[in-house]
Amino acid sequence: MSDKVDMDKIVSLCKRRGLVFPSSEIYGGLASCWDYGPMGVELKRNVKDAWWKSIVHERDDVVGLDTSIMMHPGVWTASGHIDSFTDPLMDCKSCHLRWRADDVEGQRCPKCDGELTEPRMFNLMFKTFMGPVEEEASTIYLRPETAQGIFVNFDSVITTSRKKLPLGIAQIGKSFRNEITTGNFIFRTREFEHMELEYFVKPGTDEEWLDYWVKERFDWYVKLGIRKENLRLRQHGKDELAHYARDCYDIEYLFPMGWSELEGIANRGDFDLTQHAKHSGKDLNYYDSEADEKYVPYVIEPSAGVDRSVLAFLIDAYDEEEVEGEKRTVLHLHPSLAPINVAVLPLSRNQKLTPLAKEVYKQLCPSFVTDYDDSQSIGRRYRRQDEIGTPFCVTIDFESLEDKQVTIRERDSQGQIRVPVGELKKVIEAKFKGEAFDASPLWAARQR
Ligand SMILES: [Zn+2]
Repeated sequence: MSDKVDMDKIVSLCKRRGLVFPSSEIYGGLASCWDYGPMGVELKRNVKDAWWKSIVHERDDVVGLDTSIMMHPGVWTASGHIDSFTDPLMDCKSCHLRWRADDVEGQRCPKCDGELTEPRMFNLMFKTFMGPVEEEASTIYLRPETAQGIFVNFDSVITTSRKKLPLGIAQIGKSFRNEITTGNFIFRTREFEHMELEYFVKPGTDEEWLDYWVKERFDWYVKLGIRKENLRLRQHGKDELAHYARDCYDIEYLFPMGWSELEGIANRGDFDLTQHAKHSGKDLNYYDSEADEKYVPYVIEPSAGVDRSVLAFLIDAYDEEEVEGEKRTVLHLHPSLAPINVAVLPLSRNQKLTPLAKEVYKQLCPSFVTDYDDSQSIGRRYRRQDEIGTPFCVTIDFESLEDKQVTIRERDSQGQIRVPVGELKKVIEAKFKGEAFDASPLWAARQR
């Protein structure tokens, strides 16, 4: 994390540039709920695409899945969420605020010093009713993790994909947890998105695979531009492990509020499949044809939050620099994560420039997420693009009308090159393949 950034600056940039807005803001907002704006939705989608590409598309041992948010209630009994996914809470008898028992000392309310109730267990799953009758039989839950959708489909995937172990099943989707303590912007919210991989392996090889995935996932953040010194690994202590876990590592990021979890990588053993076999009555053994034996696979689970990844990428990319005596705020986002790939900026709104500028825009649109902006001065438009991390701006000036050349400006170095309009697409494609960024001293410095 740069010493120039705190959470207020990130929140303010997000609001100003259409990355993230408070949810239902015209009604005064809703606690811990946030909406991704036109720029935020692109950034978030890019983060998910980068994960999916590295986990599913670039590997032949992982397949994808998209399961429903609402599941049979029996799933949550089997998984242990009904019994164990709880927090001990205490209510204040005077101001009625609710506290996590481990956040308060003694029996008094930290806010008003009123008397607190005894701790009661409070389930973190959101409950709702399916169908027209609000009765106990129709009670269902919004999933608190996407993992269970994968476990209950394990048999169907194994049967239809014709793959052998080790095999991973990946899913990205919304999860819901009725957390009492939320906050730090999009770091902890009650509705959030998960990127989860359940990697099924032969028992006995699980420790090796845990190490493999810890390294793989750590490197993913570094490859996408997060500085190594802002990441660390932390192994869970035995007393800290979740009820299903044999071992677990957190990848932590140095957020403005301190080191906090970005992703957990757990060895879930055979807990989930064994539980689902028991509760559903379905045989979830895997037949290993090579060893000619049956066993319940062990599972290694890298589980990441989309929203907190987005936040970490934003924080790590944020910088304030001095350029010609003026402050420049810039997001040094990895080019593949930037909401806009290329901005097409005619020097002014002069009608003579418009046709060529539009032609350039149309040429780039099919290959890149392209923004067209001809409002305000060129300097202000560069600043705007810098603030949302656009790696390249293409400027069309009056000389362009004569020589059919345009200027490409790079975000990090602010260096400019002139290229013929006909070669523009090819040049930018090459830059996206990394040539420009490997060569750029600024980007290279951040990678060290
Ligand atoms: Zn109180």
